[in-house]
Order: sequence, then C-alpha cells, then structure tokens
Amino acid sequence: MIENVLIIGAGPAGYTAGIYAARANLSPILFEGTQPGGQLMTTTDVENFPGFPDGVQGPEMMQLFRAQAERFGTRIVSDFIDRVDFSTRPFKVWDSRGRLHEARSIIIATGASAMYLGLPSEERLQGRGVSACATCDGFFFRGKDVMVVGGGDTALEEALFLSNMTNKVYLVHRRDQFRGSKIMQQRALSNPKIEVVWNSTIDEVIGEDKVTAVRLKDVQTGETREQSIDGVFVAIGHKPATALFQGQLELDQKGYILTHEGTRTSVEGVFAAGDVQDTVYRQAITAAGSGCMAAIDAERWLAGIAEEASAGAAS
Ligand code: FAD
Ligand code: NAP
Repeated sequence: MIENVLIIGAGPAGYTAGIYAARANLSPILFEGTQPGGQLMTTTDVENFPGFPDGVQGPEMMQLFRAQAERFGTRIVSDFIDRVDFSTRPFKVWDSRGRLHEARSIIIATGASAMYLGLPSEERLQGRGVSACATCDGFFFRGKDVMVVGGGDTALEEALFLSNMTNKVYLVHRRDQFRGSKIMQQRALSNPKIEVVWNSTIDEVIGEDKVTAVRLKDVQTGETREQSIDGVFVAIGHKPATALFQGQLELDQKGYILTHEGTRTSVEGVFAAGDVQDTVYRQAITAAGSGCMAAIDAERWLAGIAEEASAGAAS
C-alpha cells in the first residue's frame, strides 16, 4: 500500500499537519517517535497559545491536538522512523522494526531541542527555575533576578526580552567576547538591567524544589562563587532532529532543513514543518501554523502530480 501522506513527528506541527491532511481526505499516517506530543510534554503551563485564555498544561494541550488529528482519521503509529530514502518515488521510510512504508508525499515534523549544559543539577531543576525558553517562561519571573547563559544572538535576545519583566538579568558567557551580532551586543551592553559576567560558566545549579542560586566558575582563575538567583535560562543553541535526513535533503550549517516557497524542501514531494526548519521563532503556534501549511502544500502537490498522470495517460 502506498500512503498519500506520511507524517514524521507528533508535536504541534505533526498533529496539525494530520488534522489538515485528514480533512483533505488524504488519510494520513503519522509516526509519533519517542516523544509523542513533542517538546510541550516536558512543560507545565502554556499561556501563549491562543484559545486558552486561562492557560493550559503542555501535556493536556497535546492530548487535545492528538484527539483532533484522530477524530478526522489520522492513523497514529507509536513507532519512530529509523531510515529514509527520498531518492526515488514513492518515497521509502523504515520504522524501528525495519518495516518498509511507502508514500507519495512526506511531511517532516521531527522538531528540535534546546541544548543544555549537561549538569545533573540543571536537569533536576528543569521546569523549576531552569528553562531554555524566555518567551515561554519569562513571565513566571516577573520582578525577579534571572541569569541567561550563552554569548550568541539567542542569549542576547533572551536577556533583552527578560529585562522587560524581571528585576535584573545576569548574562553569563564563557569567553570575553560575544558571538552574537554587533547590534544585539550593543543593545544588551547598554541595557541597565543586564549585567554581563564574562569568562564564566555555571558549575552547579543550587536549590531543593526550585532554583535559589548558582555556583559560578571563573574559567581563567578557576575560582568559584555563589550567586543568588530565581531562574536560569540556558541559551547555548538548539539541535534539530535531522540526523535521519542527512544526505537526503538540503540542510543548513546547523542541521536545520532548508525550506522554500512555504514548506517545500530540496526534494519535491517532501515537506518540513515546525522547529525542524525554524531557526527563528520556535513556538508551538508557529509550529502548528507551518504544519497546516505543509499539509496544504502536500495536498496541492499531490493534486498536481495526479493531474500530470491523468494528462499523460490521456495523450
Ligand atoms: P516537537 O514538539 O519537538 O515534536 C517533535 C516530534 O517529532 C516528537 O513527537 C518526536 O517524538 C517526533 N520525532 C522526532 N524524531 C522522530 C523520528 N525519527 N520518527 C518519528 N517521530 C520522530 N512554545 C510555546 O509556544 N509556548 C510555550 O509555553 C512553550 N513552552 C516550552 C517549554 C519547554 C520546556 C520547551 C522545551 C519548549 C517550549 N515551547 C513553547 C516550544 C514548543 O514546544 C516548540 O516550538 C514546539 O513543540 C515545536 O513543535 P514541533 O511539532 O515542531 O516539534
Ligand atoms: P550560537 O550562535 O551557536 O551561540 C551559542 C552560544 O552559546 C555561544 O556564545 C557559545 O559560546 C555558547 N555555548 C555553547 N555551548 C556552551 C556551553 N556548553 N557552555 C557555555 N556556553 C556555551 O547559537 P544561538 O545563539 O542559538 O544562535 C544560532 C543562530 O541563530 C545564529 O546564527 C544566530 O545569529 C541566529 N539567531 C539570530 C537572532 C537574531 O538575529 N535576532 C536571534 C537568535 C538566533 P562560544 O561563543 O564560546 O562558542
């Protein structure tokens, strides 16, 4: 059996693609991978997704996405895709048990994940003061003191965003120069609420049930000191889940899938949506929006090849 649309990923982008493709009568099949529901399964309150004026818990919202995708007939498979071959059509993908699935079009929605420092204390306090998304969690730290780690544009942007709502932002960077763009550097350096802590790393995040302090290490002298803090925002980069697609699709230097004209990838008939192709916004609403776009792009592309085939048969 050759599927019309095969969706890889079950976050906001994948489920939304499922809703739209199912309502277009394409009977999509969706592989949910090892994190059904995606990144929002790891968070509590989501307060910026329209339609939930009182906020919603991340897992609850993703259960609603899933139910809506299933309601219209998306077939959800609890397995991950292990290998793909996009060199010929129909496209071929293999699941973790080595079973082959063939499809006329593919929507990739495998997401991305924030990189963390790798400290056990950081992991233990994730969602309890440790975050990797100021847009998502900054609001919970109104009037408090926070720390941002990193020296790229993301860290500068997170620090500037947080300065609008917090009392003080410490920006901790492991070198004596930022990597981010000059304009962002100037904005951060001239912001009275941001204090840069150069040549330093976080050695440990301290706190029982929530973050109360960090131990900072001066990388030049090796000296350590404690700094009281209410929240730590790690902003040292993101990693897209694209190992599977290397050599199959054009990726950028960081591994994100390159898209053009909406959600089209370098292979006709293969579309990408959500964080896996988004180096800028990385929000649930933008992921969902691009999942909708991918399903519409796939539907139109399938209609186009069906027309070509019938024109070819008639001539
Ligand atoms: P993801 O949610 O990353 O989902 C990827 C999916 O792909 C997963 O289901 C995974 O299992 C699947 N997958 C990966 N590889 C494979 C494979 N090989 N085979 C099959 N499936 C595969 N955004 C907001 O708008 N508001 C918030 O409040 C907010 N809070 C956040 C809090 C946290 C802690 C985090 C980490 C993120 C938060 N975000 C928030 C960001 C938001 O979660 C992401 O932008 C969004 O989830 C991206 O959706 P996605 O569908 O592109 O990918
Ligand atoms: P990035 O440019 O790779 O920067 C990552 C930063 O984190 C670097 O300063 C790096 O330090 C630091 N870092 C990495 N690992 C670390 C560790 N283990 N401990 C401590 N620090 C660590 O990533 P990014 O800031 O996410 O930006 C990614 C891309 O998106 C860039 O091209 C950026 O320009 C773009 N972007 C643009 C905007 C904007 O224009 N508004 C906003 C966000 C992102 P070193 O410098 O020492 O390597």
